[in-house]
Amino acid sequence: MSKLTTGSFSIEDLESVQITINNIVGAAKEAAEEAKELGPMGPTPFPGIATLRDWSFTLFDRYEPVYTPMCDQCCYCTFGPCNLEGNKRGACGIDMKGQAAREFFLRCITGCACHSAHGRHLLNHIIELFGEEMPINMGASNVIAPNIQLVTGRQPKTLGDLKPIMEYVEEELGQMLATIHAGQEGAAIDYDNKSMLAGVLDHVGMEVSDIAQVTALGFPKSDPDVPLVQVGMGTIDPKKPVIIAIGHNVAGVTYIMDYMEDNDLTDKMEIGGLCCTAFDMTRYKREDRQAPYAKIVGSLAKELKIVRSGIPDVIVLDEQCVRADLVQEGQKLKIPVIASNDKIMYGLPDRTNDDVDAIIEDIKSGAIPGCVMLDYEKLGELVPRIAMEMAPIRDAEGLTAIPSDEEMKALVGKCVECGECKIACPEELDIPEAMAAAKEGDINALEALHDICVGCRRCEQVCNKDIPILNVIEKAAMKAISEEKGLVRAGRGQVSDAEIRAEGLNLVMGTTPGVIAIIGCANYPAGSKDVYNIAEEFLKRNYLLVVSGCSAMDIGMYKDEDGKTLYERYPGRFEKGNILNTGSCVSNSHISGTVHKVAAIFAGRNLSGNLAEIADYSLTRVGAVGLAWGAYSQKAAAIGTGCNMYGIPAVLGPHSSKYRRALIAKNYDESRWKVYDGRNGQEMAIPPAPEFLITTAETWQETCVILAKNCIRPSDNNMGRSIKLTHWMELSEKYLGIMPEDWWKYVRHEADLPLSKREELLKKLEAEHGWEIDWKKKKIISGPAIKFDVSAQPTNLKRLCKEA
Ligand code: SF4
Ligand code: SF4
Ligand code: SF4
Repeated sequence: MSKLTTGSFSIEDLESVQITINNIVGAAKEAAEEAKELGPMGPTPFPGIATLRDWSFTLFDRYEPVYTPMCDQCCYCTFGPCNLEGNKRGACGIDMKGQAAREFFLRCITGCACHSAHGRHLLNHIIELFGEEMPINMGASNVIAPNIQLVTGRQPKTLGDLKPIMEYVEEELGQMLATIHAGQEGAAIDYDNKSMLAGVLDHVGMEVSDIAQVTALGFPKSDPDVPLVQVGMGTIDPKKPVIIAIGHNVAGVTYIMDYMEDNDLTDKMEIGGLCCTAFDMTRYKREDRQAPYAKIVGSLAKELKIVRSGIPDVIVLDEQCVRADLVQEGQKLKIPVIASNDKIMYGLPDRTNDDVDAIIEDIKSGAIPGCVMLDYEKLGELVPRIAMEMAPIRDAEGLTAIPSDEEMKALVGKCVECGECKIACPEELDIPEAMAAAKEGDINALEALHDICVGCRRCEQVCNKDIPILNVIEKAAMKAISEEKGLVRAGRGQVSDAEIRAEGLNLVMGTTPGVIAIIGCANYPAGSKDVYNIAEEFLKRNYLLVVSGCSAMDIGMYKDEDGKTLYERYPGRFEKGNILNTGSCVSNSHISGTVHKVAAIFAGRNLSGNLAEIADYSLTRVGAVGLAWGAYSQKAAAIGTGCNMYGIPAVLGPHSSKYRRALIAKNYDESRWKVYDGRNGQEMAIPPAPEFLITTAETWQETCVILAKNCIRPSDNNMGRSIKLTHWMELSEKYLGIMPEDWWKYVRHEADLPLSKREELLKKLEAEHGWEIDWKKKKIISGPAIKFDVSAQPTNLKRLCKEA
């Protein structure tokens, strides 16, 4: 028989024939190559509810769930309401802890569903446009989907490969959602395990979303030199027709941008966005596209403010973090609202199948306040044309909710300083005092509220004098708003494998003091400058800052004395002293993915289907801490909880105690601080680090101290520990005015002590803790409970120990 090099053949009716196969080709060969590339499959590919329970319970063993219920009643089913006060159980048998854990789980699974549904929508849309065979392109990396690979064991190569990943997430979501039903799960700890899995799936769903859009929509791919883009309410030119896009799913907006480009409108009109769609608009790029022209108006807190300003001539919205009263608010100022995603339809007429001209006429005449438009080709034409048609009409009428000078005087004069607004305000802003000063002609206090106010409108709801308080604040801040122009680095996407290789050792040894990931919403406890202050403090200290979403925008709003933002002062690589913006909310998956990559690429751990081992490595060796200072959404609960399962601690702002559950270790209980040494399976003591998985802080100053402390890891070498202790102690003295009282627990050797304070601290160790010091050599002779061994391999998993 002649040699067959490619193709296939079939042989029938063979008897007593020997067949020798030299080389397997085609699918079998590809499968063999893929297995080699992915490494051996770990023990938990495609985990279900029970699969990772052992790992969750290992974490809960150290980081005890702490529940903070908002009330002691449950009204979940028609048996209720049930009083769960004290140790009472409800009619269904659930207790207070179980109910609080169920509430927390509900938030996590809602957040996960939100990102996953976003991922599914985007994936279907992009596959329809580009086909399943389109190769995934995330830049120059081999590990292109670290969350997907870690959780499922698969490495997707094409867009079509993402479909079974989404199917898996959706199946698990259904299984878990069923457990919220009354009379299902009863144990708090098992709801907590489900919360952890929901968090993990959230990162998978986010990764699918961003891979699809980065691959197909021309977004930057692991690019540290992405351009700076404009951010702020003052960046929009109100003299031009203005389109404002709100939400998280950029699919529809890309058609609007295409239409603007094709019709030479990018200089003639403005397109700006709020929240994550805004970020993704600045990342979108067709091959022939001009420099970025889309502007970021700002974070969620600016939503109502920009509408009330009257600047938008049309609002287009997609999904997530969109106010429920936009149609009503828009109608007051003749701003049409176009809903482009079936998740938010607002009761508007669905005009998807109608002619664009007819829709424009109906909107212009006021017959409809807006419409649903799910056909993206039509959406692309409809929205810019509405903006151009409505702009002259609206300009002629001077439509704005911001009062004139005369109206302002009258409104301020109506205030009786009853204080109801202050009580209702989630930020406890002193509106009555600011109103009183304004009556005397001093609007400074009112102006100052603009930056702190999160635009929730609760104050207006309770004001008996019907004062549109938000409008009054915005009137006072008109000048500040017009000057509100910042810069933010556009989302760069993933951190590349090469960057991980270069920085991994510094992170694991601690010589890069830590990775601080600032993510999330605009619900800050004391204004958006908080996140800037935190970011600046850690950048000056050479930490590696990773940011995304609304926080990334708000950080770009503030400048130093030379008029420069942090993005202009610090570069965007994955290196100490850099600030890199991964992108919108779904790009948060690249932050967790980066930590997995440190374990996989730098430390050579097997990534595929191996969650517990990778998370164990991150928990004990990678000094990364997340901060969601303005966490407001259910998505933030899911993101933070996913990080926890991955071994990454997270700090949340004080409002986040309303999530009702924290994971905090007892740092005084030495029995909690033991791990195995992977070399021999023997128990070894570790310092109480990190001392929580998820907690809240009260002020940004306190947050700085908590973040620095929780970058400490058992694996730090002496130099790394000394650097981390230096920053922690300095921040504590700077912001809290005291030395941390438990600093000595982190000292294993005199070389761990900050150089500038070594002698002083040795004296304290001797006098206050009874440690023995050799003063001639300035060495510790005895005292530390923890021995330092640079080659020790701390692990929480007995199965990873050589002699286990
Ligand atoms: S779910 Fe249980 S505790 Fe809640 S109202 Fe129903 S019976 Fe009562
Ligand atoms: S609720 Fe209205 S009247 Fe009362 S203090 Fe506030 S703004 Fe003034
Ligand atoms: S709109 Fe602003 S001032 Fe009014 S309650 Fe909300 S945060 Fe407070």
